[in-house]
Amino acid sequence: MGDVYEIALVKKYPDCTRRLFTANHEIIATGVADFVALSRPLIRQPELPNLWLTGAGKNTAECISCNGCLPLTEPLTCRGKKVA
Ligand code: SF4
Repeated sequence: MGDVYEIALVKKYPDCTRRLFTANHEIIATGVADFVALSRPLIRQPELPNLWLTGAGKNTAECISCNGCLPLTEPLTCRGKKVA
């Protein structure tokens, strides 16, 4: 069921499923998965889960998937452009 459901979510949220609070919430709330992995959005916004948890965050994570933070070096930091 997971693959079919994920395809349905991609169709429902075509921008970027794993970057959207609504999509992540739906995946967990419906029991498709017990957790989701965010990865790069947490480099840009380490506080993102708490923002989403408290309702203070925007629906879309700020990470633009540009891979500017790769290869991983110290200090690990976002080098992506800021989006308004
Ligand atoms: S550098 Fe790009 S991919 Fe990496 S966290 Fe920043 S916006 Fe996301």
